[in-house]
Amino acid sequence: MEKIDILSMNKEELTAYIVSLGEPKFRASQIWGWLLKGADFSEMKNLPAALRAKLAENAFVASAKIAKKFVSKDGTIKYLYELYDGERIESVFMRYKHGNTICLSTEAGCPMGCAFCASTLKGLSRRLLPSEILSQILSTQKDTGERVDGIVLMGIGEPLDNYDNVIKFLRLVGSPDGLNIGYRHISLSTCGLVDRMEKLAKENLPITLSISLHAADDQTRSSLMPVNKRWNIEQLLKACRSYFDQTGRRLSFEYTLVRGKNDSTADANRLADVLYRYCSGMPLHVNLIPVNNVEERGFLPSEKSGIEAFAATLEGRKITATVRRKLGSDIDASCGQLRAEHSS
Ligand code: SAH
Repeated sequence: MEKIDILSMNKEELTAYIVSLGEPKFRASQIWGWLLKGADFSEMKNLPAALRAKLAENAFVASAKIAKKFVSKDGTIKYLYELYDGERIESVFMRYKHGNTICLSTEAGCPMGCAFCASTLKGLSRRLLPSEILSQILSTQKDTGERVDGIVLMGIGEPLDNYDNVIKFLRLVGSPDGLNIGYRHISLSTCGLVDRMEKLAKENLPITLSISLHAADDQTRSSLMPVNKRWNIEQLLKACRSYFDQTGRRLSFEYTLVRGKNDSTADANRLADVLYRYCSGMPLHVNLIPVNNVEERGFLPSEKSGIEAFAATLEGRKITATVRRKLGSDIDASCGQLRAEHSS
């Protein structure tokens, strides 16, 4: 018999489940409280031993267990988490003035095949359960003793490729019964699965959508991101416009600068051109990220002067751009690299 994934349940589902086991409702509230603390059944001390045993027999807590932990001088912590079946994923806990933010993985590996990305080198192993996405937060809060205030779905995996589980996770994490993290403090980053972006716009989840654009012409983008052959820049940016029209939410664009590939002044002007063509009048923001070396791929980050010139060109065209401040660079905090190192 397959065990029940109890941490993927919302409070109503958990209550119905506990009642179906012949237990009174208040037990569900106790269990819910423990689960939010990142506890396993054996730690639920105010439950009768028989109930703990019954739970362990029928259900499991899909928790992310710390396999390795790296603490940066700037306070950033990178976790390599191990899941029930031995799969490994990464999460990064970052302390900002405005609160603590966590970067979460949504898949073990990634099927999207972006040329510069370490997470996709071995393809997709499997998609994460809602509980396994949530558990990265619970385990991190338990380990640090600090609350997570904001979330970026920018770790390993393509969140919109694991659509149903990611939506379930978002509803769990935003629920007032649960961690109650405000949707305005949650960003979801996608390589541009246009059909899923259209679906997401209708979910009534006021999160920030972040688009991994990385190039402003189709030839360059297709050479970096295979997804562009399915949905090109025009289709992607039209979907962004439509997402904004439906949700009123600001969008952000990620642009990874690769030396000699997409980082010239002409590239910056092309980027401004396409944003004006398809997204004029929308509140938007461009994050410039010098590419992290992935040895297998041989891409180099742009020179500092090139990055500054790129940003200045965008600013000159009245597009707000920031060069991503690198937290945790001494611990290799960008995602994907640890998992690649620690899997055979
Ligand atoms: N699949 C989603 C989210 C995970 S990747 C997406 O594509 O958006 C998170 C961000 O890291 C993306 O913008 C991705 O393009 C970027 N990224 C991946 N590898 C990188 C590297 N080597 N250097 C810099 N950014 C990288």
